[in-house]
Amino acid sequence: MSDHPGARAEADGIRRFWEGLGLPGLVDVHTHFMPERVLRKVWAYFDALGPLTGGVEWPITYREEEDERAALLREFGVRAFTAMLYPHKPGMARWLNGWAAGFAGRTPDSLHTATLFPEPGVAGYVREAVEAGARVFKAHVQVGAYDPADEALDAAWGLLAEAGVPVVIHCGSGPAPGKHTGPGPVARVLARHPRLRLVVAHMGMPEYEDFLDLAQRYGEVRLDTTMAFTDFSERMAPFPRQSLPRLAALGDRVLLGTDFPNIPYPYLHQLHALERLDLGEEWLRAVCHDNAARLFGLPG
Ligand SMILES: [Zn+2]
Repeated sequence: MSDHPGARAEADGIRRFWEGLGLPGLVDVHTHFMPERVLRKVWAYFDALGPLTGGVEWPITYREEEDERAALLREFGVRAFTAMLYPHKPGMARWLNGWAAGFAGRTPDSLHTATLFPEPGVAGYVREAVEAGARVFKAHVQVGAYDPADEALDAAWGLLAEAGVPVVIHCGSGPAPGKHTGPGPVARVLARHPRLRLVVAHMGMPEYEDFLDLAQRYGEVRLDTTMAFTDFSERMAPFPRQSLPRLAALGDRVLLGTDFPNIPYPYLHQLHALERLDLGEEWLRAVCHDNAARLFGLPG
C-alpha cells in the first residue's frame, strides 16, 4: 500500500466507482511520467504559479517518487495509463522518447508514449518511435509555442495518421492561451490529415464548442476529459451546459484523462465530476474504460 496520505480510502472510493459500473478498471489516457529532473521543473513551475497555471494556486496532490506514483495508479485500478511528456524547445524530443521507451519497458501496464517538435529530423524519430512500439504521442502546443500546422510537422502527422497512432494534443487556450492555441491551427492540420487520430486534451478548454465541432466533422478526433468538469476548472472555464447533448452524442469518442499526478485535487474528484454530468452509466463506461480499451486494443 502506498504511503500517500489517505491512499487506502481514496483507492477504495475509486474502486467502488468502477466496480459499480461493472468495469474491469479504468484506462487513463492523460497521466504524466517524465524524466525526474524535468518533472521537478514542472512542479516548481506550478508552485511558482507559472503562466500555464493562469496565476491560480495549483498545489500538486501526488508528489511521490515515480514507482510510488505508478503503484498508486494500480491501487486505483487504472489498467493502462500513459507517460505524457513534451519538449519546450528543439533538440529535446528524441531524448525524451528514449527515456519514455525505458519507462514503458519497466512499466508494462503503461502505454508506450512518445513526443515530437517541429524541427529537422522529426519525421525520422517519429518513425523510429512508432517502430519501437510507441502507442500514443503527446504534443503540447502551448508549452512548445509552435504552430501544429507548421510544415516541418507535416510528414510526421502523415506518418502517425497512416499508422493510426493517437496523438494527445494540448491545443486549447486553457488554462492560459499561447500564440498557436485554439481551434484554428488544429483545423488546418486536420484539413490536410483528416484521418489523424488527434485526442484533444482537456476537452479543448476553454474552446469546448469549437473542438466539439472538429470532433463532429472528423470521425477520428477524440477528446480527453483531463481536468474538465472539475470544481477547479468549472470556476475558470465552465463547460457550456447547452452542449451536454453533444457531449452525450460523442460518447464513443470521449476518453478519461486526469493529469495525474499534477492535479490540485484528489483523483476521485475527476470521476465524480464526470458522474455528476448525469449522462448515464453507459456513457461513463465508454468514457472511463471501453473507448480507450478499444482504441489501444487492450485485452478484454
Ligand atoms: Zn497534462
